[in-house]
Amino acid sequence: MLRTGSDYIDSLRGRHLDAYFLGEKVTDPAGHPVIGSSIRALAATYDLAHDPDPARRALATAETPEGVVVNRFTHIHRSADDLVKKIKLQRTLGRRVGCCFQRCVGWDALNALFITTHEVDAALGTSYHPRFLRFLAHVQESDLVCQGAMTDVKGDRGARPGRQEDPDLFVHVVRRTADHIVVRGAKAHQTGALGSHEIIVMPTLALGPGEEDYAVSFAVPSDTPGITFVVGRQASDLRAVYDLPLDQGNARFAAHEALTVFDDVTVPLERVFLLGEVAYSGKLVERFAGFHRQSYGGCKAGIGDVLIGAVALAADYNGVAGASHVRDKLVEMVHLNETIYSCGLACSSEGKATPAGSYIIDLLLANVCKQNVTRIPFEMARLAQDLAGGLMSTLPSAKDLANPATGEYLRKYLKGVPGVATEDRMRVLRLIETLTIGRGAVSYLAESMHGAGSPQAQRVVIGRQAPLDEDKEAAKALAGIA
Ligand code: SF4
Repeated sequence: MLRTGSDYIDSLRGRHLDAYFLGEKVTDPAGHPVIGSSIRALAATYDLAHDPDPARRALATAETPEGVVVNRFTHIHRSADDLVKKIKLQRTLGRRVGCCFQRCVGWDALNALFITTHEVDAALGTSYHPRFLRFLAHVQESDLVCQGAMTDVKGDRGARPGRQEDPDLFVHVVRRTADHIVVRGAKAHQTGALGSHEIIVMPTLALGPGEEDYAVSFAVPSDTPGITFVVGRQASDLRAVYDLPLDQGNARFAAHEALTVFDDVTVPLERVFLLGEVAYSGKLVERFAGFHRQSYGGCKAGIGDVLIGAVALAADYNGVAGASHVRDKLVEMVHLNETIYSCGLACSSEGKATPAGSYIIDLLLANVCKQNVTRIPFEMARLAQDLAGGLMSTLPSAKDLANPATGEYLRKYLKGVPGVATEDRMRVLRLIETLTIGRGAVSYLAESMHGAGSPQAQRVVIGRQAPLDEDKEAAKALAGIA
């Protein structure tokens, strides 16, 4: 099935989510004044599969080895070209919605589990991979959104999971029977939580002997009894409730995140993909993180395109587009944005086949990609605010523009170049505002810093993957050291 965006929104109705925002139950995420824009961004991942442009459709869909066409967000990468298409798809969508479209975390979890379940079965004779393939078939056939749940809440960061005062601060197994397990704990920052059909849970770190109850991976429907979502606040989120669309900057699209609580949730063994095999938890984490660090080279470049376009428009409207320093700063933004895209492409085209039959990114380059993403969007935001000018931060509201007592003053005194409506100048400044300090900055900046792991996490992998011995040999050869 290749759902459309409106099919997807219909599929979210009638579920029994236990979800809350601002102290109130959320019964209809798609119709919610704040969360609805996030569901629309997710819906864009479905609509692209039906885009009139065949090139975009080719990015948004893929063919399984059985010859079935599926949405690419449910696809297991079968070649380096698939990995490159992933980055191009993410850039296309980032550029279209200007925010996180929330469907890649689950996709990356599917690909990491495909490899890891195969590896565990080969080494230990378990039967996780066939189970996982049945789950994958369900996701592909029904064209589902999966939420990837990795980040435990962690409590005391200096204590291992089993050494916490409260054992529930890492998701763990509290009971096992012949046909199911019971799990308890919570996962933080769950992107797209209320728009997901399924939650794929993975451990958050490499585990060792004695930590078997924490080495658990499974998938459950999002409305499984015992699961509660508490949606987080975002800067300026209530502009969607109290203000006119102009003041939101990007009124159509946004993302949301939630704290996801598992309060004694029953998981059938058929949906369990790792249970106590501690030696494989670190591999699962590293692969998932590698795939998601690759992803940022696509999606953040797409949002960067929007920011560059907004800044170029603001320069036009301010009458400074011809100034050499303005042109130079725009060139710098393009150079920065294409740097992260290049990293996304590089780790993809250097992808390698896995014994499971899928492809994985080059881990070193994927971590370099994400390390750059922890810096470059922040410099892009600085340049954007520089070029936008101070008015971005002091702009009166759209309600004042609509007010007969003040509207004409605003039109007269906030006008830029002749021929451009003051309202359009306000619109573009609001877009820059949301991307750099408003709701959109959660997608563009906070996610760039912490999503797929904070900066130090990438430095650890870069240190481990760096070919220092080969580099030393190269240096020795040139220096004449025997
Ligand atoms: Fe996808 Fe980027 Fe959002 Fe991650 S941060 S889910 S890669 S859009």
